[in-house]
Amino acid sequence: MRIIVHNTKCQGHARCWAHAPDIFKLDDEGYILPGDIKVAEKDERLASQGARSCPERALVIDLTAAA
Ligand code: SF4
Repeated sequence: MRIIVHNTKCQGHARCWAHAPDIFKLDDEGYILPGDIKVAEKDERLASQGARSCPERALVIDLTAAA
């Protein structure tokens, strides 16, 4: 799967990072880095939790993309 990152919506809450720091990379100020994220099958559960935790809806789960 893939996480589509709308980084301009990010407000730096770091909730995604709190779920999965290895998947959601933040910059020095706590904002998500731009660029969609390819997620390996084994990490899909954590990535989904992190994406759903974003209060700004900056992270969109795309299940059509294979890892
Ligand atoms: S949870 Fe959302 S707003 Fe917070 S850092 Fe992650 S992408 Fe940005």
